Amino acid sequence: MIKTAKIQGFKINLLKYNEALDFVKTSLDNGENIQIVTINPEMIEAAKQNPEFSDALKYAELVVPDGVGIKIALKFKGINQEQIRGVDFAKSLIELSAKNSYKLALVGAKPEINKKLVEVLKGKYPELNIVYAHDGYFKNDDEIIDDIKKSGANLVFTALGAPKQELFNAKLKSITQGVASIGLGGTFDVLSGSVKLAPPIYRKLGLEWLYRTLKQPERFKRIFPTLPLFLFHSIMDAVGGKAE
Ligand code: UDP
Repeated sequence: MIKTAKIQGFKINLLKYNEALDFVKTSLDNGENIQIVTINPEMIEAAKQNPEFSDALKYAELVVPDGVGIKIALKFKGINQEQIRGVDFAKSLIELSAKNSYKLALVGAKPEINKKLVEVLKGKYPELNIVYAHDGYFKNDDEIIDDIKKSGANLVFTALGAPKQELFNAKLKSITQGVASIGLGGTFDVLSGSVKLAPPIYRKLGLEWLYRTLKQPERFKRIFPTLPLFLFHSIMDAVGGKAE
């Protein structure tokens, strides 16, 4: 069993980056069905208002702290946990897939970005087995899930934004067998080279969110007031309760 803490009632797994990667590898090698969530503060605040989303987070087999806000909220509880960024984790999973012949499906982002991502990855990892790719602007989940099943994919990346990707992955898990899925937000935009990754200084300080907001000011309303509110709620939670 992986160690777990709770932030405002939501489960976060406590493990090192390589342990998280090993967990996914073991699950894939054993043909298990798992859902991985890369969680951030906006997701927790949104899940409080959305029971279906909340259930998807609750029943996910692995929840790793993508946002720096999660790391800070854990710190309020006296827990030191490294950030496991979705974009880094996705890269590691791609390398793992290339080495272990996993069958990868890439679902999400705009059509041209999804296409570009496939080209970039095929160029970089010729041995990578991408068995299915589709943009994220589809109407019928069931059709896509059916296509994923037919493709034989055992590792599914979904980059549809939250909560869409978590709800999709939960549905996928309920229908398929031996599939690991992970929700990756805007990661395809970065991995395809369409959006620049935050420079190292921002990453070091945990300020990727600031970099993204400066680049795309329309994101401002997603962060404010959600992020300060999340931190306030997390302080109240830490004062009132303990990590499990
Ligand atoms: N997206 C998608 N389908 C949708 C809505 C969004 O594929 O219906 C994609 C969008 O193109 C982007 C990603 O999902 O690539 C979400 O990016 P966002 O920046 O919102 O996610 P975050 O990283 O903040 O979770």
